[in-house]
Amino acid sequence: MPEKIDIHGVKIDNVTMKEALDFVIEGLNQETTYKIYTPNSEIIMQANRDPELMAVLNDAHLLVPDGAGVVLASKILGRNLKQKVSGIDLVKNILNTTHRRPISFFILGGKPGVPEKASINILSEYPKAKIVGFHHGYFKDDDVSDIIKQINDSRAEILLVGLGAPKQEKWIHKHAHELNAKVVMGVGGTIDVFAGTATLAPEFMRKSGFEWLYRLIKQPSRYKRMMDLPRFMLLTLRKKLKIK
Ligand code: UDP
Repeated sequence: MPEKIDIHGVKIDNVTMKEALDFVIEGLNQETTYKIYTPNSEIIMQANRDPELMAVLNDAHLLVPDGAGVVLASKILGRNLKQKVSGIDLVKNILNTTHRRPISFFILGGKPGVPEKASINILSEYPKAKIVGFHHGYFKDDDVSDIIKQINDSRAEILLVGLGAPKQEKWIHKHAHELNAKVVMGVGGTIDVFAGTATLAPEFMRKSGFEWLYRLIKQPSRYKRMMDLPRFMLLTLRKKLKIK
């Protein structure tokens, strides 16, 4: 099992992309349903205000550090995380392995029409991936048992859930025991990126840790929740400098 690094209470797995990928592929042969989340600094701050979310995150089988901020905080705190492992890059890497071993996916999340578009684009880029079902993410509680039946009937090995954080993590935690998929992963806006309804920041911004700036420019309405980024760095510095 990977070493856990505690970042403000969230026990992140100290994995490289390759190790995270191997973990997922191994998970396809396990009996238990693996729960995988991709916390960034915003989610870690949310978890510090929401004990239920903190417990949900720490009950995962794999928590990968999705963001330059989380890796930087680990360095400041002297508990070096090996590298950033973003959710979207992990999903792309899983899809890349399908030329060696076909894997079946169910896509849950995004506005109506979005998971369909994402499926078409994924299939054109990764023809060996099997998308065995999809459902949009704007459903009522009454629809959940039907959706779970659809997912189980599809016999998908991997369920990608993009309902936004923390909704997707709480949904997965609540329903994992009803699901037959081997791996269930919270993927946030990844489904929109595959569908082409959202874009990733350019590579130089993703590499230099300025992805947050791109998101702020594209979606200024996110500024309130993005205030968690400076709060996260302040909390990190307070811990480092032992200021209560
Ligand atoms: N979403 C959804 N159902 C909901 C709320 C959000 O399917 O009830 C989808 C939304 O359409 C988007 C994704 O969740 O595709 C991520 O949303 P957001 O950008 O708010 O979350 P983040 O990934 O930044 O946490």
